[in-house]
Amino acid sequence: MKIIFHPDFLPRIDGTPAGDTGRLDPSLQILKQKYEKEFITPDLASIEAILRAHSQGHLDSIQYESGRGQSSLFRLARLAAGGAIQSADLAMEGEASFGLIRPPGHHASRNSCWGFCYFNNMSIALLHIRAKYKKNRAFILDFDLHTGDGNLNILRDYGKKGHKDYEILNPDAQNEEDYLEIVEQALNQAQPCDIIAASAGFDQGKEDWGHLLSPESYRKIGQLMKEFANDRCKGRRFAILEGGYNFHAMATNIEAFLEGFF
Ligand SMILES: [Zn+2]
Repeated sequence: MKIIFHPDFLPRIDGTPAGDTGRLDPSLQILKQKYEKEFITPDLASIEAILRAHSQGHLDSIQYESGRGQSSLFRLARLAAGGAIQSADLAMEGEASFGLIRPPGHHASRNSCWGFCYFNNMSIALLHIRAKYKKNRAFILDFDLHTGDGNLNILRDYGKKGHKDYEILNPDAQNEEDYLEIVEQALNQAQPCDIIAASAGFDQGKEDWGHLLSPESYRKIGQLMKEFANDRCKGRRFAILEGGYNFHAMATNIEAFLEGFF
């Protein structure tokens, strides 16, 4: 098991809730205590890797924004994408990993972005795997409160009609029991795949915006993903952080998720 993290993710990134001061501090504190020796620092994603998921125009627009005052934004967005790539690489080598990264990415599409996202970390990671290992099929569990429209927009074009390379689940339910049931059922019915990955947002937490999932549910989701990976795709699994805005609740929920996932 490995945790991907860079100290530059800690200070305030931008004026959004995802880029806010102190957001990752409680999570870092808990994970450092439990997994101190498992921390790895990512490199910047290459321009080539970013352009697998985004247009040159989009990349230029983020760089331009960065030049207009938010000088570290472009670099941090590349660093987060680099963290996702490293998580995916580790998973391919058989090491389960979690990317404690920001800014998040699942609302970034090929030519645009919103929702505190800039580059689509998940798509960049999966398209990297596609290029490097020729592994084309993945199951993506996006358990963020919000639908990852960027993941859907970028990844839905791959594969044949009736057999998409990327199967994406954005569960939605009124209560925890139904939510877990939906996840379990989708995993049971999933097509064969090479790897399973989570767009791991924690804003669906009981003490977060969505008011739905307890730490126990996050533990269960982690467990289901681990079992799925071991049964279906040689244990290959990774998760990267998306949303989560009650900083202390997020830390507790990440901890619970990883107890099931690792
Ligand atoms: Zn969200």
